[in-house]
Amino acid sequence: MQTPITPKEETRKGNFVEQIVAADLSEGKNDGRIQTRFPPEPNGYLHIGHAKAICMDFGVAEKFGGVCNLRFDDTNPEKEDTEYVEAILEDISWLGFKWGQIYYASDYFQQLWDFAVRLIKEGKAYIDEQTSEEIAAQKGTPTQPGIESPYRNRPVEENLRLFEQMNTGEIEEGKMVLRAKIDMANPNMHFRDPIIYRVINRAHHRTGTTWKAYPMYDFAHGQSDYFEGVTHSICTLEFVPHRPLYDFFIDELKEGQDLQDHRPRQIEFNRLNLTYTVMSKRKLLALVKEGLVDGWDDPRMPTVCGLRRRGYSPQAIRRFIDMIGYTKYDALNDFSMLEAAAREDLNQRALRVSAVLNPVKLIIDNYPEGQTEELVAVNNPENEADGTHTITFSRELWMERDDFMEDAPKKFFRMSPGKEVRLKNAYIVCCTGCVKDADGNITEIHCEYDPDSKSGMPGADRKVKGTLHWLSAAHCQPAEVRLYDRLFNVEDPSASDLDFRELLNSESKKVIQGYVEQYAAEQKQTTYLQFQRIGYFTYDKDSTPERLIFNRTVSLKDNWAKNK
Ligand code: ATP
Ligand code: MG
Repeated sequence: MQTPITPKEETRKGNFVEQIVAADLSEGKNDGRIQTRFPPEPNGYLHIGHAKAICMDFGVAEKFGGVCNLRFDDTNPEKEDTEYVEAILEDISWLGFKWGQIYYASDYFQQLWDFAVRLIKEGKAYIDEQTSEEIAAQKGTPTQPGIESPYRNRPVEENLRLFEQMNTGEIEEGKMVLRAKIDMANPNMHFRDPIIYRVINRAHHRTGTTWKAYPMYDFAHGQSDYFEGVTHSICTLEFVPHRPLYDFFIDELKEGQDLQDHRPRQIEFNRLNLTYTVMSKRKLLALVKEGLVDGWDDPRMPTVCGLRRRGYSPQAIRRFIDMIGYTKYDALNDFSMLEAAAREDLNQRALRVSAVLNPVKLIIDNYPEGQTEELVAVNNPENEADGTHTITFSRELWMERDDFMEDAPKKFFRMSPGKEVRLKNAYIVCCTGCVKDADGNITEIHCEYDPDSKSGMPGADRKVKGTLHWLSAAHCQPAEVRLYDRLFNVEDPSASDLDFRELLNSESKKVIQGYVEQYAAEQKQTTYLQFQRIGYFTYDKDSTPERLIFNRTVSLKDNWAKNK
């Protein structure tokens, strides 16, 4: 068994990919050049799994003084769109990474076509007219060789003519494909005459209707890496069995040609899978298209833009990715680890403010009517440089309903008749009772304050067990507050027999009306906030000064484990 690498060791030596790259450098490979790429298909928005790949691809380039380029893997016009290209650029920048060049696989359509024609001429590729079902049925199994296609030995001239027709619109979609003639008995199924071109009759977001024959992933990816001069092509584990074919096509491409001698090296790491969510773009797209969430940037989505709208900082996402690390084994990571990373990060950067989300009136009977005071509140106890602001105190306040109990057990250190608590940044008050309506609902809580107990004054450090937050009713702002939770009810929706739509958590979004202090209403849209004693929040993108809307990023404590 392998000894597990402790995080400290991993930091020193770098992750296993960085160790491979370092070894290549010390062996003098690629003349000391390091070039990676991030290759998203522009068929959806980036999710946190992509962020893991981004941290790897850009991280390796940064660490070794190389460059990471972007390459849009746009070889399937059916699902691709410039909307996605733009969103991907925005998300990568937001995560804090800088790419070298922007490339498109579609830039290489001519080169790839020429290479395919060369293979046909060399007798290494042929047009197959069978249906995809027939082709699949002939593939065999890992232990059983496949069956050769009846079209395998078609004459070169006919292959060339039909390939041309595949690209002119004369051949309908699905009627013909170009296959590499390799080895129908190869133990690696990917070598059993893989399909390398198919017909798609749809305008491409960049090349329009120039092409109708489009290269398959295995015929485009490695060659694109090679054309660009990629030295390390880092991807996820499902591509391990593709690697021999990746190398095979690069060898074929170079054979007998006067081409550069370098070759990209494919290295695979484990994908990120997270509990209580799905990461497949097909499923995420379905959630959006079917209106099951409010768009790609719905704060419950695992997308980068969703997490951003939810109030995650780029640093929190990168911290989480550092925490989980890179391995060669697939695993399911706990969503609560992502939340823990957010708490750690936001604790450092969030502006502390007061908000009351389930308000009930608190009247201080011995505080003069009409009097107000500006009290000092610390912006961030984790960073003195963030300074202070003031909050208005008065006779009529809002407090949280849950902070009051009429018949409280001994361990209840919040407000109950006859007991003292401190009002944060203000005074110690003693509860004198409450008023109820005809149905027995509490409408007002009453208390008296001790004028000598003002926070920060000498003698004010009298011990009281509880400190409560509050707002002056006449000096705060109403706000809509959106409380988000796990998008799915089950840990691993993809492992269930049920359709993923049936596993959605119906309680994942609750909208409530509360109040926030004036200062919280005046911040920049992108400010990270802590509603004290409640959680981390941020402005929703739809928030305006006239209609405040806040999203809960994460509660202060992990309540999920407790409630389960
Ligand atoms: P699709 O679901 O359409 O197959 P994909 O999730 O593979 O797409 P791509 O746009 O092809 O998305 O991915 C770009 C890069 O991000 C690839 O190198 C891929 O390996 C990586 N990637 C995708 N999902 C994850 C994930 N969950 N964890 C880590 N890396 C990922
Ligand atoms: Mg993919």
